Parts: sequence; C-alpha cells; structure tokens
Amino acid sequence: MSETIFSKIISGEIPSEFIYEDEYCVAIHDINPLAPVHVLVISRKPIVKLSDAGPEDAALLGHLMLAVGTVAKQLGVDEAFRLIVNNGEGAGMTIAHLHLHILAGRTFSEGRMATGLDA
Ligand code: AMP
Repeated sequence: MSETIFSKIISGEIPSEFIYEDEYCVAIHDINPLAPVHVLVISRKPIVKLSDAGPEDAALLGHLMLAVGTVAKQLGVDEAFRLIVNNGEGAGMTIAHLHLHILAGRTFSEGRMATGLDA
C-alpha cells in the first residue's frame, strides 16, 4: 500500500495532535469538520479500506470500535454520535487508509442517513 497522509501523520512525518492513541490506532480532529465534534480514528495498520480487512484483522476491527467509545467518552459525546466509515472512492473515501469518522455535537436525522451530513 502506498503512503497516505494518514500514514505520514502516524509516523510523525506530518505533525498532528493525537487526542488519543494506543497500539492499534490514533485519533485526530478532522481538518475540515462537518460537525462541532469531528474526529478520525485511524488504524495504525495501513489497510486501504474496510472491505480489504481479513479474519486476521478481527481483533483490530473490534479494537477500533472500542476506541471509538473511549474517544467519544473522552470528548463527552458518548450519548450521541454518528460513526461513519467510507469504503472506497464511490462512497466518498478520499484517503485510502482505514479510518472511522466520529461526528457529534449536532442533530442528525435517521431519515437522511444516506444523503450526506447536511441533515
Ligand atoms: P474520507 O473522505 O472518509 O477518506 O475522510 C478523509 C478525511 O480526512 C476528510 O474528512 C478530511 O477532511 C480529513 N483530512 C484530510 N487531511 C487531514 C489532515 N491533515 N488532518 C486531519 N484531517 C484530515
């Protein structure tokens, strides 16, 4: 897998503030937030996208979910947040390195879940 902005952030080549980190992932504030809270939980392992993960990644994927809960608690948004994983360019993925978006601090409508983040 070729280097991405996220692998450079993880290696420290691109400076960024980790609001959370552990052996599997790091979390940073999104540079272009779509909600008052918009955090990215980024896998340290450079998997291109979720559907490229295999059975060997089961612990990693479970851990990412737990990390989301930890980060949400840390930010005080664990009662209400939206979790988004874009899988592939056609789904809006722009950085080919597995990451999860935590969005919170605004109202989200279930009815418009698939039309973007403008509702
Ligand atoms: P995706 O479209 O799912 O690939 O999400 C990529 C996200 O990374 C977008 O929401 C961008 O705003 C965000 N992003 C890009 N570069 C940076 C950066 N240097 N630091 C933080 N977030 C970034």
